[in-house]
Amino acid sequence: MKVAIVGGGVVGLTTALQLQRELRNAEITVFASDFEQTVSHVAAGIFRVGSSYSGPTEQITREWIGNSYEYYDDLRKSREAAKAGVTSISGYMFANSSPETVKSQWLEKVVPIYKNVSEEEFRLVGGNWKYGSFLTTLLTDCTLYLPWARKKLQENGTKLTVKKLNSFAELIPEWNLIMNCTGFGARSLCNDRRLVSMRGQVIKVKAPWMKTFFYGELDTYIIPGINAVTLGGSRSFDSENTKLCPYESKAIRERCNKLIPALKKATVLREEVGLRPHRENNVRVEAEHVTNGLSKAIVVHNYGHGGYGVCTAPGTAKYAVQLAKELHKSSVAKL
Ligand SMILES: Cc1cc2nc3c(=O)[nH]c(=O)nc-3n(C[C@H](O)[C@H](O)[C@H](O)COP(=O)(O)OP(=O)(O)OC[C@H]3O[C@@H](n4cnc5c(N)ncnc54)[C@H](O)[C@@H]3O)c2cc1C
Repeated sequence: MKVAIVGGGVVGLTTALQLQRELRNAEITVFASDFEQTVSHVAAGIFRVGSSYSGPTEQITREWIGNSYEYYDDLRKSREAAKAGVTSISGYMFANSSPETVKSQWLEKVVPIYKNVSEEEFRLVGGNWKYGSFLTTLLTDCTLYLPWARKKLQENGTKLTVKKLNSFAELIPEWNLIMNCTGFGARSLCNDRRLVSMRGQVIKVKAPWMKTFFYGELDTYIIPGINAVTLGGSRSFDSENTKLCPYESKAIRERCNKLIPALKKATVLREEVGLRPHRENNVRVEAEHVTNGLSKAIVVHNYGHGGYGVCTAPGTAKYAVQLAKELHKSSVAKL
């Protein structure tokens, strides 16, 4: 059985790993227009799922999030953790506008610690905050996870090919099962107008003394990764501008320095922009049949994770692979 995966970001590579595990005899090829510069590389990689995140139903969304947490937590406990860039991290979320901002309907029952902060803890940061939560969660640094995943895939026989597709028909008839993990690329590939770019800009700084993450309001966050601390951020709806905006950098720096004044001393390593693949209503994990006019193939879509693709990739990958297995079985039974 030959399977093509399109997409070399966190969703594509995690889906490929899941396929390798579940379909041991499958011959897998991952196609991507780029393996080195993806939106996934820009992400801080924290396991924090916002209230806007949604699968097709609440139950399925909870299943995706629970399975994702389990996947990364198993990796964290394994001897692969350092190479895969997965670690445990704790930190604070502060807000003034509403207590809901520091709550999480998705995470409270999944992570080991999620609690209200004490009066003393409010004094850990600059500013006067009304609401606060402390939580322990996970972090996956994609600058390590993606190369680790590629190596694992190649060691087990998966081919990685740099190729930009204009249509899935280009893969038919050689591949009759295609997993579409193209992130924002799916907008043109699938003509999906519900997929909108949510532009984000971040600054990666050197601040090895920072071990705790902090969130404030207006998309302000400080997230220590393995090799850099991510200072954020921004969320510009429907903006596809990938150029750095110096005004935005200045504003991010000011907001983060106000929250944690010690960051004034941190040197900048790099600044980055990424287009989050935000999909109106829900992440798309579903199958459809496509044809090149002569032959047919099954395409299982797995895209539209918005600002939460690193943390939820394993759950949607598991679901997508299950769908692929069921459809493949029934198409073989019909022959
Ligand atoms: C500033 C910022 C901070 C973030 N922080 C976090 C965070 O802390 N936690 C979190 O969970 N998420 C975070 N995210 C969101 C996360 O980065 C995305 O949800 C995730 O990277 C999406 O992964 P993906 O694999 O779907 O897409 P991508 O990483 O964009 O990968 C898409 C792949 O598909 C390929 N492709 C696209 N079109 C085609 C085509 N036509 N033919 C062939 N290949 C194609 C691309 O080359 C690429 O390899 C953040 C995002 C940004 C911008």
